[in-house]
Amino acid sequence: MTLDPPTILALTVALAAAAALYLAVEWRSVREPSLLFWSAGFATISLGSTLALLRVSGFLTIGIWFANGLLVTAHFLFLLGVARFTQRQLSALWLLMPIVWFGMLTLPADLPWSKAMLAVQSLLVALPTLCASALLRPHGKSLSIGAVQLRYVLLIHGAFYVAKALSVLIPGTIIDLTAFKGEIIQVSLVEGAMAIMLIALSMTGSERYRREQQIASLAARDPLTALYNRRALDLRAPRLLAQASPAQPGALLLIDIDNFKLVNDLYGHTAGDRLLIALSEMIRTVGPEGSLAARLGGDEFVILLNDTSTDRIVALGSSLRAQFHQFASQSFTTPAPITLSIGANLFDQPPDSLAALIELGDTALYETKRGGRDSIRLVDRTGAC
Ligand code: GH3
Ligand code: MG
Repeated sequence: MTLDPPTILALTVALAAAAALYLAVEWRSVREPSLLFWSAGFATISLGSTLALLRVSGFLTIGIWFANGLLVTAHFLFLLGVARFTQRQLSALWLLMPIVWFGMLTLPADLPWSKAMLAVQSLLVALPTLCASALLRPHGKSLSIGAVQLRYVLLIHGAFYVAKALSVLIPGTIIDLTAFKGEIIQVSLVEGAMAIMLIALSMTGSERYRREQQIASLAARDPLTALYNRRALDLRAPRLLAQASPAQPGALLLIDIDNFKLVNDLYGHTAGDRLLIALSEMIRTVGPEGSLAARLGGDEFVILLNDTSTDRIVALGSSLRAQFHQFASQSFTTPAPITLSIGANLFDQPPDSLAALIELGDTALYETKRGGRDSIRLVDRTGAC
């Protein structure tokens, strides 16, 4: 079965229109501007391919110059979308692209015209495509699977257009844009139709994956302090708890602010929120690498430690209590001091569950409160049967 160029172009019109619609629908749910740029890019390809069909009827300026110009524009829109996705700025030099393209109108219309047109147009497609691929290189943080796929699809697509531009230099190459004659044009039309599908799917994949990561991160974090919430702690704690052994004991510290209600009552809820945020920052800072910190709710926080000891727990608790007391006493004047109570448990066997461990922490914390607050109660369960 052979497909003639007008049939492949008609397929391209349909595929690009479907991709534009698909990305626009995706934008309606994800609301990322990059999807709009990409959707506009495919709509432009659909329009350009429709106009390209006119060249067989003799409309050469519209069917070749205008249609190919739209293909260049579409790839520039892809680049704009990638720049938006990666939050990178584009150089003002890109404004030279339309000038070069308008210059192509001045070419004398004899035989090398098709070759020159094809070479310049291919390079103008390759440049933004390869630049978009380069922008998707990991910069510091790792890329999502979708973005990696998009990066390589754009790289291959851009490289194809470089090869297409260079092909005009091969002696004996037949290129006749007016009648779609020449193998390069045929191959390029097929490559274009395939690239549409791959690029559109990678684009939605990139945005979807990023959105899923954002949603997962929101679901795992306490909105006020950005520490893990109880759900996230439940998910992450088992791995840490399983590491407990006599050689590397683990510990759970349950932390509760003393007389916190006074701050809310005397200074307002917002001041109370600020104090909770400040404590979260301190907890984040004192927690050693590999530890887990979470806000259980209200003014109650938890730190899970692995490979620790009584000395390290006491040192960490004292440092946290000292920092917090200094901050609270400088910020608020209250009839009773705003301090921290900590209930801690050290264990050398993986506990039955996180809930059971928190219950033990609660008992130790209760004893701290009953003993007059502002202290740490540490229960050493290592060596216990
Ligand atoms: P204690 O010394 O016995 O711990 O008493 P407390 O005053 O610290 O009060 P308690 O721990 O029993 O209760 C915590 C209070 O924290 C209850 C609630 O009004 C307040 N609270 C809970 N969540 C928030 C919050 O997100 N922001 C603020 N500002 N206050 C909160
Ligand atoms: Mg409290």
